[in-house]
Amino acid sequence: MSGEPQADCLFCKIVAGEIPATVVRKTERTIAIRDINPQAPTHVLVMPRAHYPNAPELAAAEPLVAAELLTEAAEVAAEEGIADYRLILNVGAGAGQTVFHVHVHVLGGKPLREGMV
Ligand code: 5GP
Ligand code: ZN
Repeated sequence: MSGEPQADCLFCKIVAGEIPATVVRKTERTIAIRDINPQAPTHVLVMPRAHYPNAPELAAAEPLVAAELLTEAAEVAAEEGIADYRLILNVGAGAGQTVFHVHVHVLGGKPLREGMV
């Protein structure tokens, strides 16, 4: 069934507590963890507990949870004390996606380069 945990998914294992991570926020439907290889002083990944490979598939199946990723990203930024931040959703390997369990990158805490890429 759509959204079920996948045995070969790193982030499903983190959600299940089978692999450790630094959890910064949790809701019934989402968790937020620090990225293991931070690209900015704040680099947090907000993800649904349910497994969907990317943002469009999550939004199609569970639009309220997709929206909650954004409100949770804002809560993370507020807790980290950053007013301006960048949200990134990579969709597909060609765009840099390496973990196929949807996650929003929350990046901030330093001046971020302007531009799209
Ligand atoms: P993507 O490239 O799929 O958009 O982002 C995957 C992110 O997951 C990368 O920024 C990478 O550093 C992070 N990551 C990969 N493995 C782990 C891990 O085991 N723990 C944590 N906390 N982050 C991870
Ligand atoms: Zn997963």
